[in-house]
Amino acid sequence: MRSVIAIVVLLVGSPIQAQLLPDSLWKRYEAAAQRIITAALADSSAFERLAYLVDTFGPRFSGTPQLERAIDWILESMRQDGLENVRGDTVMVPRWVRGHEALELRHPYRKKLAVLGLGGSIATPPDGIEAEVLVVRSFDELEARRDEARGRIVVFNVPFTTYGETVRYRVMGAVAAARAGAVASLVRSVTPHSLYTPHTGSMRYEQGVPRIPHAALTVEDAELLQRLQDRGQRPRLWLYMEAQTLPDVPSRNVIAELVGRERPEEIVVVGGHIDSWDVGQGAIDDAGGCVAAWEAVRLLKRLGLRPRRTIRVVLWTNEENGLRGALAYRDRYREELDRHVLAIESDAGVFKPEGFGFSGSPEALAIVRAVARLLRPIEADRIWEGGGGADIAPLMRAGVPGMGLRVDGTRYFWYHHTEADTIDKLDPHALNLCIAALAVMAYVVAELPSPLPRRVRSEGGS
Ligand SMILES: [Zn+2]
Repeated sequence: MRSVIAIVVLLVGSPIQAQLLPDSLWKRYEAAAQRIITAALADSSAFERLAYLVDTFGPRFSGTPQLERAIDWILESMRQDGLENVRGDTVMVPRWVRGHEALELRHPYRKKLAVLGLGGSIATPPDGIEAEVLVVRSFDELEARRDEARGRIVVFNVPFTTYGETVRYRVMGAVAAARAGAVASLVRSVTPHSLYTPHTGSMRYEQGVPRIPHAALTVEDAELLQRLQDRGQRPRLWLYMEAQTLPDVPSRNVIAELVGRERPEEIVVVGGHIDSWDVGQGAIDDAGGCVAAWEAVRLLKRLGLRPRRTIRVVLWTNEENGLRGALAYRDRYREELDRHVLAIESDAGVFKPEGFGFSGSPEALAIVRAVARLLRPIEADRIWEGGGGADIAPLMRAGVPGMGLRVDGTRYFWYHHTEADTIDKLDPHALNLCIAALAVMAYVVAELPSPLPRRVRSEGGS
């Protein structure tokens, strides 16, 4: 209740509703938004730049020279674009090296199976691990069949529901299997759709629980093993992994700005993560998001639209297997976070945009909804309550309003963390629409007379 009163007091004291009733806001920025949209859609250079990035440097896994070469090229190109305060902030990142991997069915017949080790996994012994399989459909089933898991390779055959729900088996599978005495664990790839493609991703070990090798197999093979087990045919697998974790190495968060003309100390962040997994090209996850954020700001610069506040492009490093870039950004700019007006992340693939998810105060939500109306011409005008991204989560926990670009998500998880995450899955027009959506949102929020009102924080909550 106390915080409700505080919100009322805050609003009464704020000039915002006088100047920014949603209708007047829309009229005020309509012409600029239209210019941005028209220019974004008239240009093919963004897609060419994205293609050059992923074709020239390849996947950009943390700790690899490819990632650092990609960052060098981006910094150089941003300087050539005339963006301001271009820099690479050093961040120490983990260095996990996959090495050679193999998985074979050994019974009832011999066959090579597709496999991808999960980031952070240990290796198998040099001869690999051969064992009978225990397939389970849930952690509960593993618990119920605990006695059968000892000495086996546990396979989590869990169908995709949502990423957030199903990914628990990838992240925590090795811990659960090791607790039950398994010698290795495999997870059915976290995807709603498969053409025999394994999906990698991050995983965890836990203090005090034995570390066992952990890898992803295909949906097809998980189902095969399930059928064999259900018929009592006792399938056996052989798993071989050389994975190792080397000492941390330096990487960089990429920063570039369009400095605000009146209130340069107030900042709107827009970005994605420049690292990727070590497979495919990391085109969807997340080179596309990075190029969209970068090109959005380059477009504003080109159109001479310099807003009141600073727009800062941030391309975080090491989102995939450490989040070190996100944490380092928060720590490095801790003193500025009170003046971060909004942080926008684009990390859902640059498919056709539909709008944004937003996390912030109810008053800010109303303003953001009004801003989004400017994107109606490209049907990207929806605002969902709740949204953000992995890289801006530390900022959001520090009170910064957060926003994630929402796109048509039909195909994202088909390619996610696979060899098939390549640029041919993306479409230049959809990328341009994403650039338009990010540019309009970032520009208008950076141009508003007052910063987005923040949630009133009270110790006890409301
Ligand atoms: Zn991502």
